[in-house]
Formats: sequence, structure tokens, C-alpha cells
Amino acid sequence: MIIGSGYSYLQEWLPNVAQHVLRNGMADSVGFGRMVLSYPTMPADMIAGRSLTRNLICRTFSDCTTAPRNGLVSGCYPLDPLYKKLPEAEQLKAIKETL
Ligand code: SF4
Repeated sequence: MIIGSGYSYLQEWLPNVAQHVLRNGMADSVGFGRMVLSYPTMPADMIAGRSLTRNLICRTFSDCTTAPRNGLVSGCYPLDPLYKKLPEAEQLKAIKETL
């Protein structure tokens, strides 16, 4: 079983590339990683043939990985209102200014 990874970096092109890969037998499945943090309903939108919601598409800012590398909870701080409001958002901002 081959599961493709790294597709979040393709942003709005994720569905098109995933479709091509699966149709041509280049992988058995396409895994969703960080995209599910910012846009958990993307697969449902794809399957239903709906247009993507642009402001939910992961833009690979990597706050979801920078935060846990610095002892903070992971989440999509730039795009998810829940994480934007957390005190950890300010902590993360301060950490990033030192990098
Ligand atoms: S924090 Fe950045 S990389 Fe992580 S899910 Fe949100 S937009 Fe994507």
C-alpha cells in the first residue's frame, strides 16, 4: 500500500494532483496532513464537487509545527479562529520573532 504524502504544499492544486496520481496508479491513497488542521472539510468538498473555500486552504506557514517544537500545542494559528484566540498565539509570535 502506497500512501502519498506532502500534498498540503500543493495548496489549491492538491485535489487535481491527487486525482491524477490516483487515476494513474502512482499511489493507492493520498494522505492529508496539515491541511486537515486548517480545512478539515476539504475532502468532503472535493468528493461533493464543491468549489474549495480559499481562506481555509493551508498556506504552509508551519505554525502548526513550530508551536510543538517549542512546547506549545499544535494547531493552525494563522487560519483557525480557535487557535488565533489562544494565549499560545502570542507566545508563538514572540518565539518566531527570535528565529
Ligand atoms: S499553521 Fe500553517 S502550515 Fe499549519 S495548517 Fe495552518 S496554514 Fe497550514
